[in-house]
Amino acid sequence: MLINQLKNKLRFDNIPLQTISIQGKLCQHEISILRLDNLHEQISGNKWFKLQYYLNDFFESGKTVLATFGGAYSNHIAATAAACQLLAIPCIGYIRGEEPIQYSPTLRLATEIGMQLRFVDRNTYKNKEAILSENPDLYWVPEGGYGKWGMLGAADIWEYVPDRESYSHIFLPVGSGTTVAGILHGANTSQRVFGVSVMKNNLSLEKEIGMLIEPSNIGMLKLLHDFHFGGYAKKTDDLLHFMNGVWEQYRIPLDFVYTGKTFFALMQMFESGDFAEKNKILFVHTGGLQGNQSLPQGCLNY
Ligand SMILES: *Cc1c(COP(=O)(O)O)cnc(C)c1O
Repeated sequence: MLINQLKNKLRFDNIPLQTISIQGKLCQHEISILRLDNLHEQISGNKWFKLQYYLNDFFESGKTVLATFGGAYSNHIAATAAACQLLAIPCIGYIRGEEPIQYSPTLRLATEIGMQLRFVDRNTYKNKEAILSENPDLYWVPEGGYGKWGMLGAADIWEYVPDRESYSHIFLPVGSGTTVAGILHGANTSQRVFGVSVMKNNLSLEKEIGMLIEPSNIGMLKLLHDFHFGGYAKKTDDLLHFMNGVWEQYRIPLDFVYTGKTFFALMQMFESGDFAEKNKILFVHTGGLQGNQSLPQGCLNY
């Protein structure tokens, strides 16, 4: 299948750009929020963008089964399962850890829509090369979509940003760095890209992002490492309280692993007066709301 046919098959016409007004320390600011969370119920946010060129490559590879890796709550597993269902691709998810007695909502959904699961103990999981070489017939999508195809797919996010040159600052969460690499790939050199790392002390990130893009593009990036709230998928009451506040005030639903922490970082910079009035800010809502299902009921008001 050609990439354009594939894109037409999973066409997303309405990705809204929502503009909100925020009172900063010194002045009022407008922020435009690219609501990729509205893309599709399951293939939400950045994950579809990262997958699209791998899916295209799968069709060209002549292989018949697609496989990938992820944790029990992984947005990447959910999105891969849903994309494969839509395109009638048989798929397998290699899941980190022993098979749980009770499946997470993500794993339940993935199996319901046709993904086969293989549970891999944590040590084996670390050595992905061995799993790959034992299964040469499978088409492998790297964990989190990290790689050139993922980066190029993420760069397509720009197609949905009207007046893209007008933004001086772009904010988004960073896990593997694939999405921010795509944003950097498509940005112009006067734009500043702020990536909020959701892991604690993930200091090799800049190098990993650098491997995906032109060296000249890395200078536009500023990674923020102080907004992980204890580490990957960790949360505090303050964070959940903040997310409920954003929902009450702006009707923007955030997820606690990625976008909640990133929005918090952005608000903190406003409050410290880090932006000038003329700055125009784009916040990329990368989706991930399915992950909120792992929170105890009643934590969030949406
Ligand atoms: C996976 C994910 C990210 C991180 O994307 P990377 O390309 O791995 O950096 C950000 N936001 C959401 C909602 C995600 O699910």
